[in-house]
Amino acid sequence: MEKPNTTQPTIPTMPPPIRELPRSLVERIAAGEVIERPASVVRELIDNALDAGATEIRIELRDGGMRLIRVSDDGWGIRSDELALACQPHTTSKIAQMDDLACLATLGFRGEALASIGAVAELTLTSACDKSGMAREITLRPGAPDEVITEANVARGRGTTVTVRHLFQTMPARRALLRGPAAEATRALAVVRAYAVARPAVRFTLTHDGDLLLQTPGADLPSTIEALYGADVANSLSALEPVHLTNATISGYVAGRSFHFPTREHIFLSVNGRPLATRALLAAAEAGYRPLLRKGRHPLLNARITVDPDRIDVNIHPAKAEALLRDEASLAAALRQAIHQALGAAPLSFAVAASPGTRAGAMLSQARQLRLPMPRRRRLARLPSFSEAGARQLAWATTEETPLHELPELEPLAQFANTLILAQSPEGHLFLVDQHRAHERVLYERIKQTPQESQPGDQDEVSAAGAGQLLLEPLMIELTPMQAEILTARLDELASLGLECQPFGGSVFLVRALPHVPGAAHDVAAFVRELAQDAAIESDDWRDHVTIALACRGAIRRGQPLSLPEQRALLADLRSAGVASVCPHGSPLAIYYSQEVFIRLFGW
Ligand code: ADP
Ligand code: MG
Repeated sequence: MEKPNTTQPTIPTMPPPIRELPRSLVERIAAGEVIERPASVVRELIDNALDAGATEIRIELRDGGMRLIRVSDDGWGIRSDELALACQPHTTSKIAQMDDLACLATLGFRGEALASIGAVAELTLTSACDKSGMAREITLRPGAPDEVITEANVARGRGTTVTVRHLFQTMPARRALLRGPAAEATRALAVVRAYAVARPAVRFTLTHDGDLLLQTPGADLPSTIEALYGADVANSLSALEPVHLTNATISGYVAGRSFHFPTREHIFLSVNGRPLATRALLAAAEAGYRPLLRKGRHPLLNARITVDPDRIDVNIHPAKAEALLRDEASLAAALRQAIHQALGAAPLSFAVAASPGTRAGAMLSQARQLRLPMPRRRRLARLPSFSEAGARQLAWATTEETPLHELPELEPLAQFANTLILAQSPEGHLFLVDQHRAHERVLYERIKQTPQESQPGDQDEVSAAGAGQLLLEPLMIELTPMQAEILTARLDELASLGLECQPFGGSVFLVRALPHVPGAAHDVAAFVRELAQDAAIESDDWRDHVTIALACRGAIRRGQPLSLPEQRALLADLRSAGVASVCPHGSPLAIYYSQEVFIRLFGW
């Protein structure tokens, strides 16, 4: 039995007096709204550096920013006699300039950031306004930003360095809300990346525990994207046709649609030069892609919106996470349209467009799609299910004629548009075989059948096991913390597939080798990124995803001319692959017209 509590709180007979909270406590409460985690400090300090006209911003983190965050810029600096003042609540140099329309576009002018940071960490400011090489440095008492504890002259060129040490050290409850150093560094990286894309003319550098996580050249957007994602992604960019609305303009770039990601963090939207992703704008950006991307995959794009400064208020949310954007609906609609246009109206994959009633339509509607039954439970859209019992059965066939149960022996006749192999069967049926999908399927089966333990050297086209091909330069890929954890557990298994990844701090990995696939030299960066993401899928299907990606990458592309012997070899391989009717992505890989169709159509 529990002992009864004898120390009952005494119930006062009189109401206690109402008092004003001590100022330091008020500040700590307010700071909690602005400063949630290292990434929010980074955001505020970058905002300030940009407002000061910086062209170069360096960000340094230690321990995910919990031990140290340092942001240095080459902006116009803070006068030495105003350093302490800048850290006081509600002090700003930005209000005085409010008449000046250009300055209204600054990134927030509540005069709260430095004071809030000082309320929850130790804050050091070093700043110089001129080229004398001499700067003033002050350090404030942690939690009491109105008390300067040290002050000195130090050497420094023009600009400001803000150092934040021991964030939330005296606030265990806040600290408990943070995740590990790697996860916090990853969040900060996402913030810096978003600024780097929003302000390509500014050179950004981010390091974590001495490792370089990001560096941009401070030039135009394509070179910034190249620095962040590699040349392949940068080369795939196409510019949005600039849109001019009454109070706004939209411009930007979309990356090729073969570059897609499992998260939305590569959709870079900015309003007046600050990263800002409202739900409506994000949704509009993605709608511009529909139906070009698979479910669960998200694009890489950059849309820069410029609005008259009075159309936006970024100060409504303490952490500036949201902004009030007038005319948001019409902006969203224009954005969607611009993206749609830039991507072009071309369909993503080969499809039969049968319009009933026309002759061609009638003919096409007679065509048999050799398509397998879809797996009953498809956990992921790309998941094929070849092992099902009825796999050889044709699930889709028109009524009057006998469906085919397996791919007959085919004799190639010609290649159409470097895309389809036209072939005939002994019965005189005409087959159209998609060369890419057919080869993809052949490779898929081959990789799947390669036993895990097999030694390298005993496969022909695709090495599914053992040493992969070494990359000249290791590629850096960044995953979400969750993906990183999963990938870390699979590193050995991946190495046996030829994909050699090495943890590189945070959720960043270095890829040193990748599996041998014939087409892998092309678009390596994007391929490796997708492969690593597939390998980090949180389910048992991840091997299948990796296998599909390998097969897809290794397969003969559409557009590649094939000689008749090559066509013959591919058709034979496809036939011996056993299950002929569907490519690993689940799309039809062959269509056929039976002889009866021709007899009927031509009235023979
Ligand atoms: P706000 O940015 O809303 O004005 P802050 O607390 O972030 O408030 O900064 C207070 C003031 O300190 C700014 O208005 C600016 O005058 C000055 N300041 C802060 N950071 C910098 C910097 N990196 N370069 C120049 N001035 C700065
Ligand atoms: Mg500020």
